[in-house]
Amino acid sequence: MLKKTGVATPEELANVLPSEGRLNRGAVAVLECFQNIPCNPCATSCPRHAIQEFVDINDIPSFDGDLCNGCAICVANCPGLAIFVIDETYSPDETLVKLPYEFTPLPASGDVVVAVSRAGDEIGHARVVRVQNPPVFDRTAVVHVAVPKALGHEIRFIKAGGPSRA
Ligand code: SF4
Ligand code: SF4
Repeated sequence: MLKKTGVATPEELANVLPSEGRLNRGAVAVLECFQNIPCNPCATSCPRHAIQEFVDINDIPSFDGDLCNGCAICVANCPGLAIFVIDETYSPDETLVKLPYEFTPLPASGDVVVAVSRAGDEIGHARVVRVQNPPVFDRTAVVHVAVPKALGHEIRFIKAGGPSRA
């Protein structure tokens, strides 16, 4: 379980995954936030109120995928780096994933980077298609990567600097 391993279980992930119908309609946030911690920037930053206002600062986010347009503002604002955006409609063969990234140097569009799983394992490669890093994101960049469909729900970090030598 998450508290022991630091990695969410399939059951925990299933609880936060938008419905198949919503995933099929385009970019949508996935909030992999499972613990009651005093934190709410996801809710206060969402311009579409897709993440409901917290009653208690320790609440777990409550998310309405029908209100979300996948803008990724919450991705940059989450201090836990726990939010991702997935777009399964990106292309027939690839899923677009928007990930938070706080390392330097930032990757650039066109770079091929290593795809890393929640557990920290290298699981393949990803192609960077866009890097958002406006001042309002306060140095948490949002990197858009295209990955094979099979990795869309698995990639949660990237290693920049070129493909793995492993
Ligand atoms: S991706 Fe945009 S619209 Fe969706 S929850 Fe995040 S901030 Fe709100
Ligand atoms: S900002 Fe991130 S870590 Fe904080 S409650 Fe929201 S999803 Fe969880």
